[in-house]
Amino acid sequence: MLIISLQRGKCIGCNFCQEVAPEQFRMSKKDGKAVLLNARDRKGFHTVKLHDESFFEANQKAQESCPSKIIQVKII
Ligand code: SF4
Repeated sequence: MLIISLQRGKCIGCNFCQEVAPEQFRMSKKDGKAVLLNARDRKGFHTVKLHDESFFEANQKAQESCPSKIIQVKII
């Protein structure tokens, strides 16, 4: 299982995550921050679990390219 999390409050809206992992990330038109699709918000940490691990590489790129270092991706 693939787990992706986003500490959304610290997003600076640079758009890198949407460019490399558009299946998971969209930029909000409301506040300009990234939205982790289908995620649950727990105290500012937005988390989604995916059974399809084929999305790992794209999301790992998002993690690496995020200048705020607020994306975490892991396989459990
Ligand atoms: S890469 Fe990081 S800082 Fe940039 S939009 Fe995505 S979550 Fe926000």
